[in-house]
Amino acid sequence: MPSRLSYESGPSASPLLGETIGDNLRRTVERYLDREALVDAPSGRRWTYGELWSDVERLAAALIGTGIETGDRVGIWSTNCAEWVLVQYATALCGAILVNVNPSYRSHELEYALNQSGVRLIVSAPPSERSDYPAMVESVWDRCPSLERLVVIGQPSWDELRAAAAGVGEEDTARRAASLDPDDPINIQYTSGTTGYPKGATLSHHNILNNGYFVGELLGYDEQDRVCLPVPFYHCFGMVMGNLGSTSHGSCIVIPAPSFDPGATLATVEAERCTSLYGVPTMFIAELSHPALADTDLSSLRTGIMAGSPCPVEVMKRVIAEMNMDEVAICYGMTETSPVSTQTRADDDLGRRTSTVGRVMPHLEVKVCDPENGKVVERGQPGELCTRGYSVMLGYWDNPEATDQAVDRAGWMHTGDLAVMREDGYVNIVGRMKDMVIRGGENIYPREIEEFLYSHPDVVDVQVVGVPDAKYGEELCAWVVLRDGAEPLTAEAVREFCAGRLAHYKVPRYVHLVDAFPMTVTGKVRKVEMRERSTEIFSLEDAAPTA
Ligand code: AMP
Repeated sequence: MPSRLSYESGPSASPLLGETIGDNLRRTVERYLDREALVDAPSGRRWTYGELWSDVERLAAALIGTGIETGDRVGIWSTNCAEWVLVQYATALCGAILVNVNPSYRSHELEYALNQSGVRLIVSAPPSERSDYPAMVESVWDRCPSLERLVVIGQPSWDELRAAAAGVGEEDTARRAASLDPDDPINIQYTSGTTGYPKGATLSHHNILNNGYFVGELLGYDEQDRVCLPVPFYHCFGMVMGNLGSTSHGSCIVIPAPSFDPGATLATVEAERCTSLYGVPTMFIAELSHPALADTDLSSLRTGIMAGSPCPVEVMKRVIAEMNMDEVAICYGMTETSPVSTQTRADDDLGRRTSTVGRVMPHLEVKVCDPENGKVVERGQPGELCTRGYSVMLGYWDNPEATDQAVDRAGWMHTGDLAVMREDGYVNIVGRMKDMVIRGGENIYPREIEEFLYSHPDVVDVQVVGVPDAKYGEELCAWVVLRDGAEPLTAEAVREFCAGRLAHYKVPRYVHLVDAFPMTVTGKVRKVEMRERSTEIFSLEDAAPTA
């Protein structure tokens, strides 16, 4: 009997939401007026849904009062804070397109983002020890012709902005909100592409509201839930899966710290009795090895999400066992798909919940294709994962060529991720197309080797990259973080550990011990940089180039 093809369409008992983000928030506010909506733990500030609505409404009126029209771009450049959330919903209510600027950008990247999307008004964090955001905005001002106004959170310019609401009546804001269409663009996010200039994935109300809503549905969110968000708001993980996932269910958004801090996260979960906790794998690894873990009361936790990069099985198991997150889910996705395409379900067995990225989300389709000819491969065979449905971005801002390369005529977003769909429809991500290593003609998916090396008792974290090799074209190099006090791990010892258990061509030739990996702010390991550095460290510059 021929095997089934790698295609799945996600059924759903609940329909898609056909409304704007502002309308959805208003409905939640009507239902849960006095329940807590937002907690900013570092400053101790709190908002009920009623209070959140009045601040969001006022800020939307202020934006209208300063001349912001539907479709104008408003930038936000800040680490996590309550104002980020207010700006997210206020822009959505008045129809401005929020441009998320990565807090680790510096002036060169800032200038690019402001000009590429034509930002008129930018809201920035106040100066801090690490980053003087307002000074960097000032330094590029002359080269950003569309930029008219800088508003600094917590400084007089923030109050001046709010004061601009004075001449705008509630009915004016309501009229603006009612004129918006769910398919309007409402958010631009520059993707962390490793080559070329960043591209501005442009997302609509419909894209991100529904994605946040269904992520929350699958986690069983309701008004009792309190969601701790150490993940950045400038990325979908924070603003969609976190904020929209929460507000579409009447749950409470809890901000533990401006940027990731494992101690503050644990303390906030305990103090705020959070029921859900998000993180990229390295955040959970940091929490699990934090000295405060043993004395922190995590009994309020029920669920949460691990996502953003490959989630090691062992780390998932420890999060379930040691952090009380019985119902934790893995999500897989990318900015261009709002972001989530697949998610594990709370009632999946432990194997599915820890060793796959779940199955297709409600209302979406995923398939796995042969990258050479575009044909759907049989189940169990690797290929490129593609996603279609409500979550696929409107396009890259002002870049139709790049959009056409990413989204085909039939509406499929080509993710560039290599995946295998199992017989049961569950998906494994086996690598990025460009990270696949070809050693002597054998295709090697680094993920498989990483999972294997995690089972070594001294290994806390591991990443595998391909490096040039004169004989085989490429060889494997493992970057390893060892547990405290472990004997240094040699390449020889790794070979012994693998002997008889892994095919010889999958055994890493080089081992490099580190304390941490080079990472992006969203917790993605910079494999390109690791490949370059490994080539230098092991003096492989003269070996055959990796094709
Ligand atoms: P971004 O657009 O920054 O969200 O990055 C998206 C990329 O992150 C995807 O294309 C994947 O390569 C990776 N990714 C996200 N979630 C997962 C996951 N659960 N497992 C493996 N890779 C993931």
